[in-house]
Amino acid sequence: MSAKTPVIFWFRSDLRLSDNPALSAAVQRGAPVIPVYILDDQSPAQWKRGGASRWWLHQSLLSLDARLQKSGFHPLVCLSGAAGAELDKIIAETGARGVYWNRCYEPWAMTRDTAIKENLKSRGIEVQSFSAYLMFEPWSIQNKTGGSYKVFTPFSKACLEQSGAIRPALAAAKPAIRFDGKSLSKGIGIDGLNLMPRIKWYGGMAAEWTPGEQGAQARFDAFLPDGVGLYKAERDFPAKDGVSKLSPHLHFGEISPHQIWHAVSHVIAAKGGAGNFAAQAQAFLRQLIWREFSYHLLYHAPDFPDQPWNKQFTRFPWRKDAETLEKWKRGKTGYPIIDAGMRQLWQTGWMHNRVRMIVGSFLVKNLLLDWRDGEEWFWDTLVDADLGNNAAGWQWIAGCGADAAPYFRVFNPILQSKKFDAAGTYIRRYVPELQEMPDSLIHAPWEAPPMLRSSAKDYPPPIVDLTQSRDRALKAYAESKSAA
Ligand SMILES: Cc1cc2nc3c(=O)[nH]c(=O)nc-3n(C[C@H](O)[C@H](O)[C@H](O)COP(=O)(O)OP(=O)(O)OC[C@H]3O[C@@H](n4cnc5c(N)ncnc54)[C@H](O)[C@@H]3O)c2cc1C
Repeated sequence: MSAKTPVIFWFRSDLRLSDNPALSAAVQRGAPVIPVYILDDQSPAQWKRGGASRWWLHQSLLSLDARLQKSGFHPLVCLSGAAGAELDKIIAETGARGVYWNRCYEPWAMTRDTAIKENLKSRGIEVQSFSAYLMFEPWSIQNKTGGSYKVFTPFSKACLEQSGAIRPALAAAKPAIRFDGKSLSKGIGIDGLNLMPRIKWYGGMAAEWTPGEQGAQARFDAFLPDGVGLYKAERDFPAKDGVSKLSPHLHFGEISPHQIWHAVSHVIAAKGGAGNFAAQAQAFLRQLIWREFSYHLLYHAPDFPDQPWNKQFTRFPWRKDAETLEKWKRGKTGYPIIDAGMRQLWQTGWMHNRVRMIVGSFLVKNLLLDWRDGEEWFWDTLVDADLGNNAAGWQWIAGCGADAAPYFRVFNPILQSKKFDAAGTYIRRYVPELQEMPDSLIHAPWEAPPMLRSSAKDYPPPIVDLTQSRDRALKAYAESKSAA
């Protein structure tokens, strides 16, 4: 390959220039690099990106394109269609002799990428793939018998034992030679991907987030060190700024887990490596290992997003009830903490983890609706919608996942609300109908005296009775268990 023959860098879940191993390797090749993004809605089938993700992707690509050009790269080339065919078109146009990418771990992406790699290699085109999305390849963490882990704690222990091998973060890539673009037709541009919705429902998301590598770094800088130092104590209280909100940035690869891991580890060491700060910060690092665990599970059970990991749940008698599901989605269940969570999701594209667990438990247990209904709604509305984490979260809460919360453990939304949002600050933020309710009654407003209830007359009554619905769920569980 001559030094002038270009190589393609294919951006996927790694929309950043810093700590991007495949981009750094492409640049180090000494050849001009063609930066490409392909919107492939065909390969993922039912897991093509949802609405909130598409909004984020549009913004993130704009930010990436600006950053690429500022760093001296050719502008981002955007294409839409089956990835293999689109890559072939650019190869034919430009004579590129190599394709570089960082690996993705969705089962559909692994199947697609393996086929693309074989096809390109058979035609003499160099293909190089790298690890960037995860700190550990999902197949590299093995138990003593060489198998996969099913329980988080030993998995986490195995990761921590190997944490010395987490590669240091790389500096931002800069082009050796700029690709002149003469041979390349223009592509369709970021607007041509049609990611932005026609109806402007994304105002709340735009106010909340700054997609892109710089937005990710700013969010992380704001969280480190104070947020990290209080993480364990504050992470469960949705009204507080107790969590990092890095999930969409991590999902789109605007920041890498390696960058976060090393920066936090550095601060822990600088503060003496032990004591309260270390305990708080280690609880934060542990969350990154949950993310690795989701992908470990997904790799070993590719049907994880659709099928219960615990096969005992295959014939579980989930109800079909479109009207009730709709009330849950819209935040009109009559349970304030549930409705606040569902409205936070709708308005901002994100929901606090504690509240994800409460609304999830309510859906699958009190409403007895299928966890996949919840998973699908999250997929469409979360800006951090992520195949591995979403499936793992839903299977955990439904009790059918590996190392899941037992099905018979039913969260009581009123007690959870009193414990984690005692003053009702989070509820009032998203449920304006309850603005006037005193703290002591805001968790169960139907218990308020009539005069106070009239201040919340637009707020619906509870859609189910907690005791009866809990009993119904436990009965369904006992029956399905004995039938299995
Ligand atoms: C029903 C349900 C569905 C979920 N769906 C998703 C999803 O689609 N995408 C997603 O990224 N997370 C999902 N989660 C996990 C978790 O709720 C979010 O990662 C977290 O709320 C993101 O907020 P944060 O960035 O402030 O997290 P922090 O608490 O600051 O944690 C830092 C990072 O660790 C990772 N992390 C934290 N908690 C978990 C977890 N339980 N499992 C896996 N990784 C974790 C995330 O990447 C997160 O950004 C889901 C959880 C549940 C219960």
